[in-house]
Amino acid sequence: MTAGVDRGMTRFAGSDGNFCGMELSKPAVAARKLTKVYGAGEARVLALDSVDVDFAAACFTAIMGPSGSGKSTLLNLLAGLDAPTSGSVQLGGKDLTGLGDNELTAWRRTHVGFVFQAFNLLPMLTAAQNIRLPLDLAGDKLDREWWDTVVDTLALRDRLNHRPSEMSGGQRQRVALARGLITRPDVIFADEPTGNLDTRSGFEVLSFLRRSVRELGQSVVMVTHDPAAAAYAERVILLADGRLAGEILHPSKEAVLAALDELTTLVNV
Ligand code: ADP
Ligand code: MG
Repeated sequence: MTAGVDRGMTRFAGSDGNFCGMELSKPAVAARKLTKVYGAGEARVLALDSVDVDFAAACFTAIMGPSGSGKSTLLNLLAGLDAPTSGSVQLGGKDLTGLGDNELTAWRRTHVGFVFQAFNLLPMLTAAQNIRLPLDLAGDKLDREWWDTVVDTLALRDRLNHRPSEMSGGQRQRVALARGLITRPDVIFADEPTGNLDTRSGFEVLSFLRRSVRELGQSVVMVTHDPAAAAYAERVILLADGRLAGEILHPSKEAVLAALDELTTLVNV
């Protein structure tokens, strides 16, 4: 089968000289026996069932799977936004599950970046103010050179004084991505980052995400249900029923569609 664990989980070598997936001795983020249970009794849901997975540094990984398969749960646990029922998350060499709430919040601020479907920009701030907000909150200085690199890579130079209401959806999401990049986090997590965008702006944001991986060495983990979006990634992880169901390296839209098709068939029998 295309997406099977047997064929999938140990094949990490890329064929095009891209080492994405091969540096797993030092993953950017790693989950071990990661388990999440919501509710109790009759309302009990096993959303993630003992998931082991590594995400390589400087790699663009997409997480896919049927609705309810645990994608958002996995992303939130990896990002330290929610605590697992059991198991652990290592991010940037630190065990997140060992941190207290305040410690975790402070650590997340500088080591983790987020891009949300709804952009989550502050409407009264300009693009420039939104981008530097994580630094201001952490009391960190702006690195002028890095600022220029991020702003130019995302082509935001002529939008810096605009407020979100004066920008298109695609531009807003680029600002959100710049805000994620500005602290040079270990990983940027994105949950359906193109969900609120038209097709063209969606692809534009995806190509900027890919640029931030290729040109800036950023590690990106993105949840999407769109096979065309997943094809921008270098690696796709497939989830089904809260478990890892396989992976695709250097995915094409067709390969992703075929794998999802197979998963859906398996899940429904
Ligand atoms: P996906 O993002 O793949 O659609 P989720 O991670 O959102 O899946 O959900 C996985 C499972 O956990 C689903 O059955 C969902 O209904 C359940 N779930 C998610 N969040 C909660 C929650 N806060 N409380 C109870 N059940 C939840
Ligand atoms: Mg989801």
